[in-house]
Amino acid sequence: MVGLTLTHEHLLIDFTTVLSEPDTSSEKGLMSEPVSLENLWWVRQNWTSSIDNLRLYDEELAIKEAGDFYRNGGSTIVDSTSVGIGRDPQALLRISRATGLNIIMGSGYYVDSTHSDWLRSASVDEVAQTIISDIENGVGGTDIRAGIIGEIGCSWPWTDSEKKVLEAAVAAQQETGAPLLIHPGRSEEAPMELIKAVEGWGGDLRRTVMGHIERTIYDRAVLDEVAATGVYLNFDLFGHDESYYPLAPQTYMPADHERIEMIEHLVGDGRSSQVLLAHDVCSKHRLKRYGGHGYDHIPTRVVPRMRARGMHEEDVRMVLVDNPTRMLTFN
Ligand SMILES: [Zn+2]
Repeated sequence: MVGLTLTHEHLLIDFTTVLSEPDTSSEKGLMSEPVSLENLWWVRQNWTSSIDNLRLYDEELAIKEAGDFYRNGGSTIVDSTSVGIGRDPQALLRISRATGLNIIMGSGYYVDSTHSDWLRSASVDEVAQTIISDIENGVGGTDIRAGIIGEIGCSWPWTDSEKKVLEAAVAAQQETGAPLLIHPGRSEEAPMELIKAVEGWGGDLRRTVMGHIERTIYDRAVLDEVAATGVYLNFDLFGHDESYYPLAPQTYMPADHERIEMIEHLVGDGRSSQVLLAHDVCSKHRLKRYGGHGYDHIPTRVVPRMRARGMHEEDVRMVLVDNPTRMLTFN
């Protein structure tokens, strides 16, 4: 049993691939400052502009923070750190043993900006073989095997190298029966474009997780269209409550109550079996040590809020336990 599960997190990550200069040139000096109480509000707003903020390298801290999830009833964390953003199988194994958590390791490749020269020149089959080997044999000569394909990074517009990687991921899904988790580009059109491609390559949409729904889809009609394809819908940015979204300033980051409203809409439509939850912790400011919500925000604060708003117990259990169990089971 996977139990209470977070379906998209990063326990350790090098996320500096998203590093960008702040909008205000007078704030450039803050980019290389360590995260502190003095710059924390700025870091929360400009979280992609602080180098220190984008590096989670402290294993002891990861054990303490992820341990809080375990101590609040959590059983399993999907660490969707794929190749290109610092995946570390040995460290994940140590964190799993130290916390008591099941940790499901990801495989495959993140967005184009992290692709190696080898990856850019490899064939679909060569890329697929690396993913299959991670799942069936273990990563890099270890016997530590991946349990999910993803997060597979896709930008907007979608690049050729990313298309090849997703096609390879679909081939690996067909070969292994593992679930596939996709990071879509920041456009409301992206999820349907990706879903059609996965379907075209023969992928199983009922074994496919569309990530970052709340920062991608704002229109309920689009949400309904994506839901109707049968994919899992990952509301994986819980706790990310600052409305300014530096990676897409023309849009906004929804607050937790807006995430809950979207989920209530789906539950009301009979789609609770497709909803998954997570925080996608990928920077220091999301950790408690640095004034953030931590990995236990969903069980300690989001679930009571869902109950207070009238969500039925079977739906709460569905999104936190039953759906992850079904999603993570190989077939
Ligand atoms: Zn992620």
